[in-house]
Amino acid sequence: MPPLGVFGGTFDPIHYGHLRLAEDMADALGLERVRFVPAGQPPHRAAPRTAARHRLEMVRRAVAGNPRFELDARELERDAPSYTVDTLTALRAELGDARPLWLLLGADAFLGLPAWHEWKRLLDLAHVAVAARPGAPLVDALPPELKREVARRQDCAGPAGGVLLRTPPLLDISATVIRDTLARHRSARYWLPDAVLDYIQEQKLYA
Ligand code: ATP
Repeated sequence: MPPLGVFGGTFDPIHYGHLRLAEDMADALGLERVRFVPAGQPPHRAAPRTAARHRLEMVRRAVAGNPRFELDARELERDAPSYTVDTLTALRAELGDARPLWLLLGADAFLGLPAWHEWKRLLDLAHVAVAARPGAPLVDALPPELKREVARRQDCAGPAGGVLLRTPPLLDISATVIRDTLARHRSARYWLPDAVLDYIQEQKLYA
């Protein structure tokens, strides 16, 4: 059964760093699809400043036209905090136990993983693929508990339980810099798709 990628984030806004990570992982892991799952109320960080419906629409526009990408709005459709472990549990129930699932993470998110709700259970549900990110070096920076997990989870053959680290060509783009740039009325063009930027302008987001 072809593997599926799951890529969560606040996507406030979605940008080419996200899209490139997903495309690179789809190629490297042979993913049939990557599901983008915008986070509702992320439990481990400040609430996104942009309303869920806008973040959803920006992701919808960004993934349109890529047949491997799809949008999954489930975390925005519930009021409770969106724990990744709940999302993966629900996906497992829908897809069955045999299908390989890959949770895609940037290195900064992976470094924070031990603070996530039931983080070790994530690895019973999915493999984790981590992409290096500018400013977040991978192997050297890992805390001991993550280093141990990476070392003993080299086997990515089954449906879940492996950890893979990748250093693709890096794009030094962040949503924080995009928001700050737009707030100063400067151009954010070429950091994110024009379709997303047009929506930001139409809706006067981040101004
Ligand atoms: P912010 O600047 O608001 O923290 P962000 O750009 O980090 O936002 P998120 O929505 O928090 O965006 O990120 C979702 C996921 O994408 C995380 O796993 C993050 O590590 C990863 N990611 C974001 N930008 C990049 C990038 N330029 N290269 C690789 N991974 C990235």
